[in-house]
Amino acid sequence: MANFYLPDDANQQIYLDANATTPVLPEIADVVSHTMQVCFGNPSSSHITGIQAKHLLEQTRNKAREVIGATDGDILFTSGATEGIQTAVVSTLIAAKNHQIENPVLLYGATEHKAVPNTLKHWNSVLDINAQVLAIPVDKNGILDHEFIRKHAANALMICTMAVNNETGVFQDLTTIEQVIRSENNNVAWMVDCVQALGKTNLALSQTTIDYAPFSGHKLYAPKGIGVLYIRKGSAYTPFIAGGGQESGMRSGTENLPGIAGLNKLFSLLLDKQNQTFKPIEQLHAFREQLLAALTDTFGSITFNHSFEHSVPTTLNFAVNELTSKEVMDLFDAAGIRVSGGSACSSGANRSFVLDAMGASDWQSENAIRMSFGPAVNQQEIDFACDKIRSLKPILEANCLVVSDSTSPQHEVCAIGLTQLRHQAACCWLYVDSDKSAVVIDPIIELIPRMAKIVATQGLTVKAIIDTHNHQERLSARCLLSKELAERYVANEIDELGWPKDSATIELSDARLTKVATPGHSDDSVSYLLSDTQSGDISYCFCGDLILPGGLGNTAITGGDAAKMAQSLKQLAMAVQDSTVICSGHDYQQCFAMDWHAQKATTPLLAQLLSELVSDDEFVELKQQADEQKHTVSHSLCGYVETLESAPMKQLVATDAKSMLDDKATYLIDTREPYEHGANNLAELFTVAESKVINIPLSRMANAIVQGQLDKAHSYILVCRSGNRSKQAANNLSQLGFENVYNLNGGLALL
Ligand code: PLP
Repeated sequence: MANFYLPDDANQQIYLDANATTPVLPEIADVVSHTMQVCFGNPSSSHITGIQAKHLLEQTRNKAREVIGATDGDILFTSGATEGIQTAVVSTLIAAKNHQIENPVLLYGATEHKAVPNTLKHWNSVLDINAQVLAIPVDKNGILDHEFIRKHAANALMICTMAVNNETGVFQDLTTIEQVIRSENNNVAWMVDCVQALGKTNLALSQTTIDYAPFSGHKLYAPKGIGVLYIRKGSAYTPFIAGGGQESGMRSGTENLPGIAGLNKLFSLLLDKQNQTFKPIEQLHAFREQLLAALTDTFGSITFNHSFEHSVPTTLNFAVNELTSKEVMDLFDAAGIRVSGGSACSSGANRSFVLDAMGASDWQSENAIRMSFGPAVNQQEIDFACDKIRSLKPILEANCLVVSDSTSPQHEVCAIGLTQLRHQAACCWLYVDSDKSAVVIDPIIELIPRMAKIVATQGLTVKAIIDTHNHQERLSARCLLSKELAERYVANEIDELGWPKDSATIELSDARLTKVATPGHSDDSVSYLLSDTQSGDISYCFCGDLILPGGLGNTAITGGDAAKMAQSLKQLAMAVQDSTVICSGHDYQQCFAMDWHAQKATTPLLAQLLSELVSDDEFVELKQQADEQKHTVSHSLCGYVETLESAPMKQLVATDAKSMLDDKATYLIDTREPYEHGANNLAELFTVAESKVINIPLSRMANAIVQGQLDKAHSYILVCRSGNRSKQAANNLSQLGFENVYNLNGGLALL
């Protein structure tokens, strides 16, 4: 099987991220291994072993020529495309050092892989070229603006374009680009990044005036660390790596013969017309259509971020309407489907500069998913992938991620109790009583679609949508949300924060909400206390930005007043209990659940005020000082928090976790969202009884604490996909006084 590690083991994966990298085909791996063990010679050695190695090297070079249509010019073996790009740029800029062009420019396509603009900028500065580095804009289909190229070509020292884009699969019309460039400038160096084109489009480089074309083996089933650079005959060249004179002095260093042997086999497969490893283009198109149908059937409403007409068939780039890319990727990953958000190569970025350049909406850019397969994929694998995607539909429905269109009976209610919904560090809270009446506190515009889906799929009746204050950093989502919920929202006459006028409480079937004025962060700030109707215990205190996990709200903004804050805090302290969970409007510290006891323990100024270690006046002075100081160093408007010390983390590896679970009082907590939890079976993975596995996502941590779902006498091993979320949860539980909490280091990924 070419792409997937197939289905009989528990860790089965469906690898749909071929544009990031591909597995090495077994027949290529065999040749690589043979070259490491048998034909291992140094091509520079004069003995027979060396001669054999040299023969393999030159044979591969010739095959490369055939594959890319390079009848003349040079073919160099590099470590990959990034080195090929460096070599091309350095060669060009060194040759251009004494140029006579006024206002010289270096042009690159706005959707180019970062390796290109960053290399241009780096060497432009290191070599003191002082050219202006300009991005060539693209249209909504990702096609380069030819007029822009025409306008700047005469002044250009180098023009860099790409054959096929790695995020969207969009291909460029190289013939037209060539006409445009050469009609203006016969001498300018033109590089075309061909990394994503190999095996997907036909190339005949020597019939063009492309000066440099980098390729990379690992994008097409060869190993990482090997690539090829084509250099047109007569184009400028300066060796990028000097040394022992290998590659005719053009690129020193002992050649990566195993990698080259891998390319050799790859090229043979590409050239062999009888071989069926690589599928014909029509079949790849049919595979893309099949995946598209599976995605649409599963998620319903999807926006595709590129036109299929302008892209190679092996890439699908899309956003699932109303689901974040994180939600989709977490779900896919839990189900063993590997895709990437935007570009896997631009780590850390949470929006796609490629889609931004194409003028996509913020939503599309921030929530793009790239699904890509290699041209050696087969029908069985695509069928398997589509079945797996479709199998996610019931999980999506049960977790309110899509509105069910089935006539099956009502799904089990999953939102009873308290759920935290987040957008960045802002928190919005949904409380649902046992009779499905609900209140929403501090709604957030970005979360409206999600909220509306939960309310619709679970048949909730929303009794109130309330804010704790008029948020200064964002618009209130109250009006929009109430409109969106339509007949599921019980409209009353309300005040400016959404509280029913002339009403002291909001009565739910098992709980009661009361309002307390708690100015300090702003003059209109209020807190809502949710008490159990039977016991009168206050389970939750929704305090907006008066108190934040690990700190207190900012008082150095309009309406802020430290003296009033002191009074509000004292007033709340009289009302709440140590076990009351504090639900803030922001959580900069990733705490998820903080009870009043832990809040005091982690907020020294609060503790000092309440225990009268500082007077009100001293509190005011200290708070004002702190806010003024933080104001200059922090961007968070709503409050400044101290970095909470992480509890000394007890990390476990999988084997230890498994043996610890033999103990009766040790449980596994899956901290992933229920839709991820539902997509694979942890009890099976850890070979434990179902009753040993508890699913408490971070969004339901506060609820679990109030419901007494956890017992301080028990031991808990926390897991998630990579060990990050579980680490946060473990920290949170430690803050709450749980002593026997362990984190599975590396998460399920390292199981
Ligand atoms: N260019 C494109 C279009 C790519 O997709 C990549 C890899 O992601 C590169 C260049 C860099 O290739 P390499 O990993 O071989 O350095």
